[in-house]
Amino acid sequence: MIDGHVHTPYCPHGSNAALEEYIDQAIKSGYSSITFAEHAPLPETFIDPVPEQDSSMERSLVEPYIKEVQSLKKSYSSDIEIKLGFEVDYIKGYEKETESFLNQYGSSLDDSLLSVHFLPVKKQWFCIDYSPDVFSAACRAIGSIDELYERYYKLLKDSAHVDLGPYKPNRIGHMTLIRKFHHIYPSPEGWKKQAASFLSVVKNNGLDLDYNGAGTLKEYCRESYPPPDLAKMAYEKGISLIYGSDAHDPNGIKQGYEILNQTLMKI
Ligand SMILES: [Zn+2]
Ligand SMILES: [Zn+2]
Repeated sequence: MIDGHVHTPYCPHGSNAALEEYIDQAIKSGYSSITFAEHAPLPETFIDPVPEQDSSMERSLVEPYIKEVQSLKKSYSSDIEIKLGFEVDYIKGYEKETESFLNQYGSSLDDSLLSVHFLPVKKQWFCIDYSPDVFSAACRAIGSIDELYERYYKLLKDSAHVDLGPYKPNRIGHMTLIRKFHHIYPSPEGWKKQAASFLSVVKNNGLDLDYNGAGTLKEYCRESYPPPDLAKMAYEKGISLIYGSDAHDPNGIKQGYEILNQTLMKI
């Protein structure tokens, strides 16, 4: 049992629970491997658009984070495999800064994810999974929900293609995050075609997918990222699906796991 996407006390919008609490919960849940993938600091010149500006970890905590995970990796080595990584944001226009962050720390990392949370519309940035209000503001700014989905999948494709140097993460985070509020804002017809065409890009670039359980518990989402039919399509294309709880709290360990199609997961 592998969990490739777990947050930590270094996340300012998550729980303060100690790393050990996550690990103990993981061992209790029968995990053989866990990846700590904290939100990497956003590029220094990028302004976090969310009101609390708490989307990612503090830059000054990167080294303490790395040291703490590395030390736990050793002390728990007989009980569980612990991997060190980041959930890195793909932010269009900030590739150089992202690459230089990865070049600085990449050699210490075992496993990371590349995710899109921020979407630019007319020089304004929207964190599309922040709230229904922000989602709807992004739709209004771009013109329609159809255009928002189009922009999102274009960005995901860019993230799969983009050169971020030798330490570019090789797994794409929650590839249907744009669906987080789909019970209030239904996805446009044809969105699945865009998502399916993204799968080909994932495949062609030799990337893996985060098979993320967090959406199953979100009030307006209630499905995995990606949902079952797309997950199956990915599997049939030969793409590795790595379960991710996306836990921001020790209680989030293994969330959604029972609902996901376990036969598709890479173990
Ligand atoms: Zn988070
Ligand atoms: Zn994420």
